[in-house]
Amino acid sequence: MGLKVAKFGGSSVADAIQIEKIKDIIMSSDERRYIVVSAPGKRFDDDAKITDLLYLCKTHMEHKLPYQQLFQVICDRYMAVEVNLGTDVDLRKEFSRIEKDMNEGASTDYVASRGEYLNAMMIASYLGFDFVDSADMVKFNEKGKLDAEATDEAIRKVLSKHEKAVIPGFYGSKADGSIKTFSRGGSDVTGSLIAKAMGADVYENWTDVSGFLVADPRIVKTPKPIGTISYKELRELSYMGASVLHEDAIHPARVANIPINIRNTNRPEDEGTMITAEPALENERIITGIAGKKDFTSITIYKSMLNDERGFVRRLSSVLEDLNIPIEHMPSGIDTLSVVLTNEDIDGRLDEILDSFQKQLAPDHMEVEDDLALIATVGSGMSYRPGVSAKLFSALAEVGVNIRMIDQGSSEMNIIVGVKNKDFEKSIKAIYEAFEK
Ligand code: ASP
Repeated sequence: MGLKVAKFGGSSVADAIQIEKIKDIIMSSDERRYIVVSAPGKRFDDDAKITDLLYLCKTHMEHKLPYQQLFQVICDRYMAVEVNLGTDVDLRKEFSRIEKDMNEGASTDYVASRGEYLNAMMIASYLGFDFVDSADMVKFNEKGKLDAEATDEAIRKVLSKHEKAVIPGFYGSKADGSIKTFSRGGSDVTGSLIAKAMGADVYENWTDVSGFLVADPRIVKTPKPIGTISYKELRELSYMGASVLHEDAIHPARVANIPINIRNTNRPEDEGTMITAEPALENERIITGIAGKKDFTSITIYKSMLNDERGFVRRLSSVLEDLNIPIEHMPSGIDTLSVVLTNEDIDGRLDEILDSFQKQLAPDHMEVEDDLALIATVGSGMSYRPGVSAKLFSALAEVGVNIRMIDQGSSEMNIIVGVKNKDFEKSIKAIYEAFEK
């Protein structure tokens, strides 16, 4: 029999109604045997995530503020699920143990992890699956970094004794037994690690959207869904702001060549997006997706005979390195070189950067544009296909957008254009229309 590892995110397990939905999904295939769950997320827009409430509880305790009411809100959310679904978990006993641990100074990571811990216990009981604690499987070293090898081994060893299990996402443990969490959204990583270790046929990531869309639906009306996308294309799009999956969740599945399927708990009939190693052979497809971000600054340095100069780029990078500012892009010409930085990283230090460039690089002159938006048009179908950039540029020209910067990766899988912030939405719409209509 095949194996599907299925991870359900916060909104998929936010209350009893959602948990009933995931039961239907899980029970509809015998192959869904290892289930990873997040803590209960938002039930509606203004709702609080359990994980946020747990962090808040811990902060209250640290500042010697009353935390009991907050803790009660958390307990009540689980109790409401319990009342509706009926499980054999002794929640009261669990709550008092957690409260006691908190009073004895339990770490922030421990407190935060209890959201998934309790949820996994309840869901395991409701499904009739075993509960298996990730503290026994996901291993971190003393520095708090994931120990991938030890984790792989532990998962195999532990899960080989369980045919069907529900596993809490987001955390693991160090050798001394203390709990350590991943960064926020880290249950995605747990699912990927389990899928890799157990050699799953697919890693299903169930969330509240039917996979990736070609463009942001807040900008383009009903954009087409992306049926398949390669890991590489996804990396380019996520870097530019299209986020559905935790970044670190890709690597384990990718090395084991396990496809990741993004699915929608609220629309299980949708096939969602399949993330695979190879780009889709969807023949006619030229672009896979469009994503972008606002608020970049580009500094263009002009210097005659720049191409002849040695160490120019090194000096330029070291100025930025000293200020701890990462370079996002570096388009270049014969006698010009631009660096594109995020306004957030510059953080009010533009004059300082320009002063240092002046001293270190002795440019003829420099030009700054501080309201740039970058838009990436990504697709493995673009490589070696003539006319793609022409189509993109003329689409922008037709709507009167002036392109301030162009950067095409050498893989030809990605064309990045810089436009004024105010032209951002208009440009994305125009590119979408040019390729998808
Ligand atoms: N519950 C954690 C968070 O809210 C982890 C997760 O859901 O993946 O970040």
